[in-house]
Amino acid sequence: MAEAGSFADRVKQQADIVRVVGEYIRLKKSGQNFTGLCPFHGEKTPSFAVHPVKQIYHCFGCGKGGDVFNFVMEMDKVPFPEAVRIVAEKCGIAIPKPKERSPEQQKEHQQRAALIEMHREAQSFFTKQLESTAEGRAARAYLEDRGLNAEALSRFGIGYAPSGGDVLLRSLKQKYAEKLLVESGLISRDQSGGRLFDRFRRRITFPIANESGKIVAFGCRALGDDQPKYLNSPETPIYSKSNVLYHMDRAKEAIRRQDFAILVEGYMDAIAVARADIVNVVASCGTSLAEPQIKLLGRFTKRVIVNYDPDAAGQAATERSISLLLEQDFEVRVLALPAIGDKKADPDLFIREKGAESYIKALKDAPPYVDYLISRARQMDLSSGEGKLRALNFLLPYLQKIPNRLLRSEWATRIAQQLRIDEPVLRAALSKAANERRGEVKTQPELVGKAAKPTERRLIRMLVEAEGFRREIARRLQQARLYEGLESEKILAALIVAGLSDQPMQATEIGSLLDERDRRLFFEILFEPAQEGSWEEAESCLEALHRRQIEQELLRVQRDIEALPAGQSIRELLSRKQELLKRLAAADHG
Ligand SMILES: [Zn+2]
Repeated sequence: MAEAGSFADRVKQQADIVRVVGEYIRLKKSGQNFTGLCPFHGEKTPSFAVHPVKQIYHCFGCGKGGDVFNFVMEMDKVPFPEAVRIVAEKCGIAIPKPKERSPEQQKEHQQRAALIEMHREAQSFFTKQLESTAEGRAARAYLEDRGLNAEALSRFGIGYAPSGGDVLLRSLKQKYAEKLLVESGLISRDQSGGRLFDRFRRRITFPIANESGKIVAFGCRALGDDQPKYLNSPETPIYSKSNVLYHMDRAKEAIRRQDFAILVEGYMDAIAVARADIVNVVASCGTSLAEPQIKLLGRFTKRVIVNYDPDAAGQAATERSISLLLEQDFEVRVLALPAIGDKKADPDLFIREKGAESYIKALKDAPPYVDYLISRARQMDLSSGEGKLRALNFLLPYLQKIPNRLLRSEWATRIAQQLRIDEPVLRAALSKAANERRGEVKTQPELVGKAAKPTERRLIRMLVEAEGFRREIARRLQQARLYEGLESEKILAALIVAGLSDQPMQATEIGSLLDERDRRLFFEILFEPAQEGSWEEAESCLEALHRRQIEQELLRVQRDIEALPAGQSIRELLSRKQELLKRLAAADHG
């Protein structure tokens, strides 16, 4: 990540990973490394190691590893540039002023700044309309009826877009070019491409801020029965709805502190929950949660309570969200609020009718997602075998996503009982499904164990460390394609490329090229206590690989010979075999 010669690279060169990590957790010297309790997974005996020479860390328990920036990114939940800044600050390295922008970047930057300024002005326009016009007063009455008093209106910046059609336009057009007005999404152009008019008319406005609190869009609700009921800003240069979570700017501190977030559907729900002094709430604004939104949330917590509307659309959205959240390793609970009278309760209605206390209690009791899904499955028709199969097929994909085997087994028992399915039948289905997806499952640490032969492990170490002859090792591996078919093939391939280049060898750069399993194996190998390698040792490792290559080829020929139908000429294969045997003998004596 740190490009050679960049500021990040300089920080990395100067920073001492042991000192930086040591500010977060207690490290003890142990051999050539430092070890401590891993901050990324619960443990009582240290399996977290920091390598002072290679400037990397690795946890033998959970497999997390990387350089000083990866560590800070993971600990502080910050993006890369921020991690560089934090490390620079910790190490007292002066941070340079931002580079000169290219004219294009400058223009883009100016455009974004103008759009944000325009949104700020629109925001004060909308709130003024709500406060001081006759139309606005009617809107206020409506909001008060929904339980939003003056304090709430000002806290959440709620405003009003008047019905005129060009009131906002008139207040903005002195200052902004037409093109920019249209780009902002606040102003629309009519079909014929001529006249401009306000996008939002006769609507309550809710400002939508990005993570850093700048208003980038509006969500608007119709005051009367106008359709659509909800109308939001379109995608603009400053707003993409899949990247923004409503209320995130105000919720993020509480989410980090409490280590969980409440996810609701709309801004009215988020406001209702936040007003009940439960600040760690965000809304997806729309029924579908998108992956970038989950990643944003994941920077602050990995635990979520999903509290969507109980209608059919909300249920479908809940299930889709569960899938997405599980894929991103979230711990998910689901709060399905009970109906109030004959009304299905969303968070807003529930809190208004039952009070904040009841809502907090409901949150505490919110079951893990599997319980929620079982209760959904139980609503299906379970009287026939076919119906049970349908319910089971509904549950299986989620059940498979439970990473912990014990937990999975426990749930299987629960499901069998609740759906009255024969437990062995269910387990068979589950293990079949599990086998089908094994290919994509992340390898658990215990499965990695002592992978790769000692020869491979030694060569990997020397390719990283032996500055004097790494290039020669890389060349020989490459030339005879000795690495092909080895367990560590991908690691060696990446090291060969790096070894043949003139760039200095960076362990984390190599790691970032590998998939999770290979990266873990690579880091494990780097942390093994080992003596310095010599060219003699490297040569003997290369010879061992060479021998292995011939043996493999010999095996193939032998198999071909055996597979040949009787009576066919095998002379060619036999002479190939002889040749290989000779080469093997030569390799043994060489
Ligand atoms: Zn760990």
